Amino acid sequence: MLVYTIKELCRTCYTCVRECPARAIRIVGGQAEVITERCVACGNCTKVCSQGAKVFVNTVDMVRKVVEKPGKKAALVAPSFPAEFHDITDHRMVVGMIRALGFD
Ligand code: SF4
Ligand code: SF4
Repeated sequence: MLVYTIKELCRTCYTCVRECPARAIRIVGGQAEVITERCVACGNCTKVCSQGAKVFVNTVDMVRKVVEKPGKKAALVAPSFPAEFHDITDHRMVVGMIRALGFD
């Protein structure tokens, strides 16, 4: 699960349901719920929800702890990473950026 709904904030306006390109959101028990198996993690619902009820799972603290531990650390990058770093033409720079974060 990469995206989820903070149920207390959801006003059941259906905006995210309409705007999800993967049809990965349904209303269950009066709240918008992400269907994990269908979600492609595009983030669109987090942008269109005016209530801030759609959020990404945040693993930054977990990664920080891993990086701070002694020993070698490897990062596995999703094959889709060039889509996120579309302004970087030399993708070796991304390797340098990951190293700068503390990975080996
Ligand atoms: S856009 Fe936000 S408030 Fe509206 S249904 Fe989706 S999660 Fe709920
Ligand atoms: S992240 Fe994208 S695919 Fe996943 S639920 Fe939100 S809009 Fe749909």
